[in-house]
Amino acid sequence: MNEEELHALDLYERGTWRGASLSYAGGPAFAVNCVEYDGVLVFEGDMILASSRGEPAAPTAEIGVEAIFTLQAGAKWPNGIVPYKIDGSVTETMKAAIEIAINGMNLSLNKGGKQYVNLQAAGASDHDYVLFVKGTGYSSFVGKQGGAQEINVPDNSPKPGKIMHEICHALGMFHEHTRPDRDTYVTYHPENVRDDSLKPNFEKVTDPNVIKPAAYDYGSIMHYSKVAFAKTGTETLVPVQDKPIGQRDGLSPIDIEGIIDFYS
Ligand SMILES: [Zn+2]
Repeated sequence: MNEEELHALDLYERGTWRGASLSYAGGPAFAVNCVEYDGVLVFEGDMILASSRGEPAAPTAEIGVEAIFTLQAGAKWPNGIVPYKIDGSVTETMKAAIEIAINGMNLSLNKGGKQYVNLQAAGASDHDYVLFVKGTGYSSFVGKQGGAQEINVPDNSPKPGKIMHEICHALGMFHEHTRPDRDTYVTYHPENVRDDSLKPNFEKVTDPNVIKPAAYDYGSIMHYSKVAFAKTGTETLVPVQDKPIGQRDGLSPIDIEGIIDFYS
């Protein structure tokens, strides 16, 4: 079991299940299963629908009742500039990992001398920004929300790749393996999922508005691993082509291409 799963399992055990309906940029609503813990409502383990910590201005969502939520992933960060602050609750080692993740992403998202996405320390006049804050596990909103939007990081085991994954959510990215066309590329084995409560992690996003135009990317930092939430010795996601999945080392070439395309 990897650390990402440990966090998610922990959340599933501690949290309360909620149904939520979710629509993308005013499109038709679809149902998602969420779990609420520590004042944060998440789906697929780490994507925040609502939080009692920050005060995102744009979406409407309520914790404790069926949430109605409009994903603001269509609302990009203007000019690709993503101001950020690091809360005092974040440990020094985690701060160092956040800096590594940010520098790595800024480097990757510079092409031909043009900075397509620029994560930079927030100034006094920045109203909309990402706030790295100590939470339970790693989680992030999807897309720009307006106001201070948190990226939760745990207080130990700093992993720059995991932080990049959460920043990608904040830029507007979903999980690669939930693409509507994923069955062409990976075989999902629900019988190998350890517990029924973990199956929402594999639900496909059905809204056509969220289909990424780029090719399916086994190497994406947003793809889950073969053994995600699997019973011991089994696999839940088997690539149709014999390729590794679930890396958390850095942005893949197709991740970079997709983000640059989205922010061009
Ligand atoms: Zn994620």
